[in-house]
Amino acid sequence: MAKQSVKDLRDLGGMHVFVRVDYNVPLEDGRITDDTRIRASLPTLEYLIKGGARLALASHLGRPKKGPTPEFSLKPVAARLSELLHREVPMASDCVGDEVRRHAEGLKDGGVLLLENVRFHPEEEKNDPGFARRLVQDTVSTAFVNDAFGSAHRAHASTEGVAHHVKRAVAGFLMEKEIRYLDMAVHPKERPLVAILGGAKVSDKIEVIEALLERVDALLIGGGMAYTFFRARGYATGKSLVEEDKVSLAAELLRKGTGKIVLPADHLVASKFAEDAERKELPAQECPEGWMGLDIGPVTRRAYTERLRDAKVVVWNGPMGVFEMKPFAEGTLAVARAMADSKGVTIVGGGDSVAAVTQMGLADEIDHVSTGGGASLEFLAGQTLPGVACLQPQTRDGGRGRQDSPAS
Ligand code: AMP
Repeated sequence: MAKQSVKDLRDLGGMHVFVRVDYNVPLEDGRITDDTRIRASLPTLEYLIKGGARLALASHLGRPKKGPTPEFSLKPVAARLSELLHREVPMASDCVGDEVRRHAEGLKDGGVLLLENVRFHPEEEKNDPGFARRLVQDTVSTAFVNDAFGSAHRAHASTEGVAHHVKRAVAGFLMEKEIRYLDMAVHPKERPLVAILGGAKVSDKIEVIEALLERVDALLIGGGMAYTFFRARGYATGKSLVEEDKVSLAAELLRKGTGKIVLPADHLVASKFAEDAERKELPAQECPEGWMGLDIGPVTRRAYTERLRDAKVVVWNGPMGVFEMKPFAEGTLAVARAMADSKGVTIVGGGDSVAAVTQMGLADEIDHVSTGGGASLEFLAGQTLPGVACLQPQTRDGGRGRQDSPAS
């Protein structure tokens, strides 16, 4: 269901807004090595700032298990954010407490305060209601903007709990785009809808496969997960990645997905799991004893490329082979290229496939590159994401009728 967004918040001037962002950036010796996530939050922040809102930004960083630890501090983010916003972004030493309240109360219109890592408190991941209330009360917030799609599949205090203590709970621009695009794969308005799934294991993606089978016109399979299906079909699989305990499930999925599931017709097999392995291109049915399939073959590359070209909507998750090793990257690169060339709406659903399109410099040619691996898979599997469910739905009048109603 479509959710209200920051655009539905009226009278932003002076409004205290709790903004959940995803600043879980990679750090090396305290330095940010990739600031994509910070830059991705700017459209929402700039919109709110321009409207005169007063912002308290919350995020997690890493998985601190022992309370506050300098290596998980968001301090480097405050510095980078100050540069990007061309203004000093003060940072609180915690995300709740008197100091936060003083800072928040002192904010001027358009002012921004960055809170310290919410996961320094174990109550965050427990979605403790008291902690959620403190996050809202100490930041004197009356509205919640969730722009952290990557954390939306978690019911945590800062991603879900806070929504129950504010008047307004809406999506940021990033979140809105995620929902809009991923929803095209869940409720397609145009067809054919083609999904292409790869990656290591079937077991990680069973729910997505089952949910997609009900909606897609074709489901193309590649990567390590293809081998459990190969075994179910009685092909030779050598030392390829087969999940023995999932073979009967794969057989059932093949039965259910007759006419929809497309398996590779050929593959690239290797004598060992190494860049310098001996390689052979073989029909999918064949794999010499002791060898393993590490990529799709040229016939499959062409067939999949054609399918993607003709699709109206394409959603892709998971590499077609062990793309980290150059000799086994061709299949994944071909799919990335086909996605970029497709005239349909193209959606890359997180994880390693994002790395592939980014590595190739093709990310700008894809309509939507999801920022959330786990979250996008759960969304595609038709599951309810707590961080989305807690936001107010669009109403027929565009949400304006709900201005004063509580978020839950
Ligand atoms: P996932 O996280 O499930 O999307 O899986 C990504 C991983 O699957 C990557 O690290 C790939 O190297 C790996 N992978 C893809 N194809 C194969 C294959 N044929 N055999 C073993 N691993 C594979």
